[in-house]
Amino acid sequence: MADFADIASDYSEQVLQRTLDARPRFAVHSTLSAEFCEDCGVSIPQARREAVPGCELCVDCQGYREGRRG
Ligand SMILES: [Zn+2]
Repeated sequence: MADFADIASDYSEQVLQRTLDARPRFAVHSTLSAEFCEDCGVSIPQARREAVPGCELCVDCQGYREGRRG
């Protein structure tokens, strides 16, 4: 009979491993783009990250910031 704490620990390790496995494996550019939007947390598409080296926002938040500055 497994201890509940052991089960919980196993589960969080699985989640962590799955998160690591889900990371893209392709080569990283010297200028790192964020994997997730700094404002809303949505994952930024790889195409955008390559097109805009160093980008930190998704298209929506970028447009929002540029269009509604101040
Ligand atoms: Zn965003």
